Amino acid sequence: MGPSVAAVVVAAGRGLRAGGGLPKQYRDLAGEPVIRSSLALFSWHGQIGQVQAVIHGDDRGSYDAAAKGLRLLPPVLGGASRQASVRAGLEALNARPPDIVLVHDAARPFCSAELVSRAISACSETGAAIPALEVTDTIKRVDAMGHVAGTVDRAPLRAVQTPQAFNFAALLDAHRRAAKDGREDFTDDAALAEWAGIKVATFAGETGNMKLTTDEDFGKAEGRRMASLADLRLGNGYDVHAFGDGDHVWLGGLKIPHDRGLTGHSDADVALHAIVDAILGAIADGDIGKHFSPNDPRWRGASSDQFLKFAVERVTKRGGKIANLDLTIVCEEPRIGPHRDAMRKQIAEIAEMSIDRVAVKATTSEQLGFTGRREGIVAMATATVRLPWSW
Ligand code: MG
Repeated sequence: MGPSVAAVVVAAGRGLRAGGGLPKQYRDLAGEPVIRSSLALFSWHGQIGQVQAVIHGDDRGSYDAAAKGLRLLPPVLGGASRQASVRAGLEALNARPPDIVLVHDAARPFCSAELVSRAISACSETGAAIPALEVTDTIKRVDAMGHVAGTVDRAPLRAVQTPQAFNFAALLDAHRRAAKDGREDFTDDAALAEWAGIKVATFAGETGNMKLTTDEDFGKAEGRRMASLADLRLGNGYDVHAFGDGDHVWLGGLKIPHDRGLTGHSDADVALHAIVDAILGAIADGDIGKHFSPNDPRWRGASSDQFLKFAVERVTKRGGKIANLDLTIVCEEPRIGPHRDAMRKQIAEIAEMSIDRVAVKATTSEQLGFTGRREGIVAMATATVRLPWSW
């Protein structure tokens, strides 16, 4: 078993420089707040046990919206400086101290899972390690007038990033000592560690792991985010359930009164089942029966929203997003029209999507075939999923 690892995601800054009227970590980036990328990355990473966000008190609402559905510790409030905020996160983690802690800036949404793994293994070897890039631009020293005063040798220079990884106990101790000494001016944890006498190693960072600061950064990042989710997948799903005794049917997560019920092992929500298969189909991840066997007593009478939540999670775990869902229900009865918008809303809520990305359509089969004879209901669904591009 590897070391226990926690992540502190620092998001307490005001960062209004980038415009948009919100602190930059909550600004929308291609349909998602910037901070959600880091929270999701750490919460799904197999080596990370706990994720502690540090936020500003004014941002609680934005944070809760951005963190929805992710496995995170309750956020703690940050301090007046970045350093004070990191310390607050470390103190909170000290309730269940990990072996290693990664400190990451929420304004770096493009950090990859590989970089996180690299940080953990570098820190396991050295006790303190930070991602660094060689400086490729020529660096000049300028005078007060902005005139070139000299050319700096760039060979020993490195541009450093986050996540920075440390032995947890050592970093917490260094933070406590710095606070006690009245030092609140360290701009990253490596500088503080250096001050505390901790030797800090470097490992290869990622050029893509950019920090968003200016409006121009956001412009570049928007394109990058879309390009990074360029692997577009399409899936379809089909399901049938027969009518039986009962006084309601479950359809699209709604309980609809009817003079008959639908028979099946779970709640027989034929619409949600078709959607689940469409999503699983889009990511080539089996089908609903593979993950939730009809022979498994656990799923007897089960509410189908958990199947949909599961399918959505399979997409999220791969760093993907569901772009839209399109559902068609075929039956003579009950009438779907009056429930259409409530059903869209319900599906959107379960799948954590906006309602304008969920369509519900209904038709009869003109009294032909088994649906026409009112023997059962058919549902068909299509899902498009955007996955990160990788070969
Ligand atoms: Mg079914």
